[in-house]
Amino acid sequence: MKNNFIFFLFLGLVKPAFPQDPTGLKNATFLEKLYKDKSYLELKKKIVSEFAHIPAGQWGEFVRGVDEIILTQKKVIAFTFDACGGKNGNGYDKELIDYLRHEKVPATLFVSGKWIDSQFTVFLNLSRDSLFEIENHGLNHRPCSINGHSAYGIKGTSNIEEAFNEIEANARKIEAITNRRPHFYRSAATFIDEACASMASRLGITAVSYRVLSGDAIPFIPEAVIEANVLKNIIPGAIVIMHFNHPEWNTKEALQKIVPILRQQGYIFVRLNDCELTTDKYKIKR
Ligand SMILES: [Zn+2]
Repeated sequence: MKNNFIFFLFLGLVKPAFPQDPTGLKNATFLEKLYKDKSYLELKKKIVSEFAHIPAGQWGEFVRGVDEIILTQKKVIAFTFDACGGKNGNGYDKELIDYLRHEKVPATLFVSGKWIDSQFTVFLNLSRDSLFEIENHGLNHRPCSINGHSAYGIKGTSNIEEAFNEIEANARKIEAITNRRPHFYRSAATFIDEACASMASRLGITAVSYRVLSGDAIPFIPEAVIEANVLKNIIPGAIVIMHFNHPEWNTKEALQKIVPILRQQGYIFVRLNDCELTTDKYKIKR
């Protein structure tokens, strides 16, 4: 009896390392909570005033302030997989993740707040697997703009405050769930303006694009085309962009071909956090 009592007392004192219950972490309620959080509101006020007179700058996937490649001469590449959420896909490509686990291929997963809301248990599970690095794909999966630019039919954030929420609120949401603040941010559709890239940096987060576009998001693209897109364009240091929120796409099928071939060529796979990133001087003329 006494032992039972001590056991239950112990249970009461030990807090689980990760929240098991998504209530309160859903985008809308989480944002409501942040709006009552002094540290969030003060930082937001500061950022809004700092960026009030900064021009938006260029709009695109490879603008100033965005990194696209690993700084290395070695045969090292990073597979990155986005989970967009909402209209852009709340699914989970379990077979793809199983394949990465089976082959011990480390990967960086960019997740939006919307996707976390629809796949909370899956997200918890992925975040506990050291093979994967969890990074920030925006709270509501909106291209990051301080003046309302859109990309691929997705409406971007309209102003500095919305851009701040898109980056910072999702960073805090991921940290609240995983106990780790993301280091990288990839905006929805990878479109961002220079002001937002600079804002991310001000928040201690690096905006990231890609060097190799797998094209897995193009409707009905066959696996052979995805495979060719990657293999023809791969270079040391490449960051490859793919998705893991559409099990109906051919991403996994292509990856099953790509991984053994790249291994044969001597490539090793890393997560972004294992590396130093830079801009791709060969591709971008500034
Ligand atoms: Zn996306």
